[in-house]
Amino acid sequence: MAENPVAGAEFFHLMITKFFDIILGAKRASKIGILGNVKGWYAVVEAQVRGSLHLHLLIWIEGAPASPLDMKERMNSDPDFKQKLTEWYDDIICQSFPKTSVPYVAAEGTPKQLPVLSRPLDPNSTDYDEKRDQHHRDLCESTGLVHEHNATCFKHMPRRIHSLVDPESDCRFELPRPLAAETHFDDDRDLVIRCETGHLNGHNPTNPTATLCLGCNTDLKQTASGSVAMTMVEYMANYTIKLQLDTSVVFSAWFYDVIPEGHVEILTQRDGDLEGFDFNGFMTD
Ligand SMILES: [Zn+2]
Repeated sequence: MAENPVAGAEFFHLMITKFFDIILGAKRASKIGILGNVKGWYAVVEAQVRGSLHLHLLIWIEGAPASPLDMKERMNSDPDFKQKLTEWYDDIICQSFPKTSVPYVAAEGTPKQLPVLSRPLDPNSTDYDEKRDQHHRDLCESTGLVHEHNATCFKHMPRRIHSLVDPESDCRFELPRPLAAETHFDDDRDLVIRCETGHLNGHNPTNPTATLCLGCNTDLKQTASGSVAMTMVEYMANYTIKLQLDTSVVFSAWFYDVIPEGHVEILTQRDGDLEGFDFNGFMTD
């Protein structure tokens, strides 16, 4: 691909377009995808040092509470809503390996990334069900979804105390995360997602469609916190525009990418009446 970046870009565009149209449900009649009914999205493309492309994506889900405070109040007053919300999180975010899977071991003479370099499993094959869970784990273990500490984990710590670093508690990515037997809301009514593998980043996989179809790192996080959402907006806006612009221009540029009807396209459609667009659940705290 390094010798033909145009082919790489065209393949990336095809994969991402199908991801939106089919897996997220944008072009399906029901508009229902693996996350539910997607109300809108905002995405930016980033090139890695070697030139391969990847996507950072914010997604609005239909029916999400207007703010984290609203969500907490509704959970407090509506046990049925709380139960459904817990089940929904369990369905879309997984921090555990499939139960029947075993650690991935690359066959002698094969690259560690062989699962990533291979074609996806054929869902019509007779052994698909038998192979799916193990292939899912193999992808997780060869796409960077399993965190391994390295120097960047501790780069903000003063050099003079590096000898005292405990990788399991000082990693700036806060991994490994604490284990949790089941998804629940803690005493502060903050979400704790079931976690059996502390070093595994969140990904989408109980119905492992995204990971299995794309065959790549599909790290997925919920942003039911105003401060987290704002951080993500700022992070992605930095990709969208140049840092030397004024802050007002930065956010105007970002805002202008948001099109009406609650949909947000990938830096394409910029015209339209923004009146009535609902930022609730994303921008509020
Ligand atoms: Zn780390």
